[in-house]
Amino acid sequence: MREVYDQWEGNDEFVDFRVPSEDIPLLQEHLDCEIMIDDLGQAVYETFPKVAEELKLETTGDFQAMTDLFFKEYRPLNTIYSWLDMMKETFPDFVEIEWLGQTYEGRDMKALHLSVDKGLNPDKKTIVLTAGVHAREWISTSTALFTIFKLLTEYGHSKKETRYLEQLDFLIVPVFNPDGYAYSWSQDRLWRKNRQETYIPRCFGIDIDRSFGYHWTKSEDYPCGESYSGEAAFEAIEAENLDTYINVTRKDHQIYGFLDLHSYTQKILCPYAYSCDEQPRDIENLLELAYGISKSIRLRYGKHYEVLPACKDRGVDIMPGLGAGSALDFMYHNRAHWAFQLKLRDTGSHGFLLPSEFIVPVGKEIYAAVKYFCEFILNPDL
Ligand SMILES: [Zn+2]
Repeated sequence: MREVYDQWEGNDEFVDFRVPSEDIPLLQEHLDCEIMIDDLGQAVYETFPKVAEELKLETTGDFQAMTDLFFKEYRPLNTIYSWLDMMKETFPDFVEIEWLGQTYEGRDMKALHLSVDKGLNPDKKTIVLTAGVHAREWISTSTALFTIFKLLTEYGHSKKETRYLEQLDFLIVPVFNPDGYAYSWSQDRLWRKNRQETYIPRCFGIDIDRSFGYHWTKSEDYPCGESYSGEAAFEAIEAENLDTYINVTRKDHQIYGFLDLHSYTQKILCPYAYSCDEQPRDIENLLELAYGISKSIRLRYGKHYEVLPACKDRGVDIMPGLGAGSALDFMYHNRAHWAFQLKLRDTGSHGFLLPSEFIVPVGKEIYAAVKYFCEFILNPDL
C-alpha cells in the first residue's frame, strides 16, 4: 500500500494515507479504518491566508500589531524572508542573517544567527534549530519564526531570555527547504521533498531527511516516491549546505543542542533514527531531557507529546533502512550532544493541514520546550 498511496504518517500501530474517494468503500470493507479528513480540497484551502494580497512589512509602524498580523496566517517564502530582514533591522545588535548556500532552483537558504556578541565568543554553547525540512509541514516553519520572535522581544525584559541570548548562540534555519516550500504554496500543498532533478525525467525531489551522510543507505523508494534518498549521501543540496555551514563556516561553534521541527503526531524523537540496535551515549540523560521537554509542552495547553527513539517512529524494526540519513543522527554525531526531532501538532485530525488558528498556540507550547531546552543546556546538572 505504501507504493500505491501517499503515506502521511504511521508506525506499527497506525498508518495515515491519502486515498482517492472512490477507493474508500473497498478499503473500509477490508480494513479497520477511519476517515480523518473528508474534504481534502477544503482542508488545503483553509491553510492559505484569507486575504489575497501579500502582507506588507514595515519597520516604521506598530511592531506588535504587525507581528500579531504576521502570525495570524502561514506566510509564503518572500514574506518570511522580508520578515527576517525586518528582525535584522529591528534588532541590529544581535541578529545576523547568514547564508547557507543556494538550492537547486537558485533560492537562498538562510539562517538567523542570534548572538549578543556577534558570535565572537568561542566559549559559548550553540543551539541549532531547523524547520521546514519537509515542505508541507508549514507549522514547523511558523513555530521557528515564533521562537525567533520570542527570544528577540523578551531579551532585556525577561531574565531568562536575557540570559539565553547572553550565554548562548542560536543558529535558526526556519525554511530549510525553500524550493519545496515555494512549490507547496504554488503547485502542490502536500509536497514533501526538495525539487531537485533525478535520473528519471519528470520525477523530482529528494527527501532531505534521508540524505544526510551519517549512516546513509540508499532507500528502496524510487525517484518519484516520497522518501527517495537520492543515489548518494548529501545529494540533496540543502543537506550538503548544512554540513558546510556547521562544519566549515561555523566550525568554531560549540554546538550543544539541536532541535529539528517537523509535523505531525506530537512526538519527541531521540537518536538514533537509523537503527534501534545502536544505543546513543547518555541515553538515560537524553530520555530524561526529552520527558522534561514533553512536560514543559504539556504544562502550556495540556497537549501530550510522546517520547520515543526515532528508529521506532520510522518503523526501522519493520523495514531496516527507513531511518537512514536523518538530520537528527547527523547533528547528534556532529557535536549536538542533545539532539531531538520534534513532531508538532496535531495527532491526525488535520495532519499536515493544520489550520492557521493553531500557529500561535503551537508556537507558544514549543517555545516553552525551547526554554526548557535552553535551561538544560546552560545547567546540565539540574
Ligand atoms: Zn517531516
